[in-house]
Amino acid sequence: AETDIAPIVATRRDETVSFLQRVVSKGLGWARKYSLFTYPYATACCGMEYMSVAGGRHDLARFGAEYPRFSPRQADLLLVTGTINLKQAPILKRVYEQMCEPKWVVAFGVCASSGGFYDNYAVLQGIDRIIPVDVYIPGCPPRPEQVLDAILLLQEKIGGQVHKIADSGQPNPTAARHDLLAS
Ligand code: SF4
Repeated sequence: AETDIAPIVATRRDETVSFLQRVVSKGLGWARKYSLFTYPYATACCGMEYMSVAGGRHDLARFGAEYPRFSPRQADLLLVTGTINLKQAPILKRVYEQMCEPKWVVAFGVCASSGGFYDNYAVLQGIDRIIPVDVYIPGCPPRPEQVLDAILLLQEKIGGQVHKIADSGQPNPTAARHDLLAS
């Protein structure tokens, strides 16, 4: 009889954990999608369009993504706005790697998405050759409405993702620093 009961108890416990995980995930997803900290990696003319969409007229702040951070460690949304040449590619990759999980990437304009009309030996033909991209924005440059649309798409994606309290599995950098200070 014990062997019959044991799996049922285990299943009920799993369901409870899974329900809690779903609630936590939903809450984290809701909080994260409305509090995006943007790292604007601006290299060319699309940077002007980013300024336009971040300004008062189009008001990116309405969507919870207004606050630019210029340290990758303080950002969770990498907005690649402009042409990326091959010499810049390792730097962009390094910036991406320095961002903590969870993180998202938007390719802003055709240059970031596919190289655009710079189909030549010097330009990276799309940033997805070196880092993962969540949303692509077409246009040269994209209109502010397209950028806002992309942010809404990204928020929808973030809301549908599974979020865990310890998402990254990476060592806590603050804890590591404490360890260094203690030794
Ligand atoms: Fe400039 Fe057009 Fe490239 Fe944007 S997509 S960086 S506007 S050339």
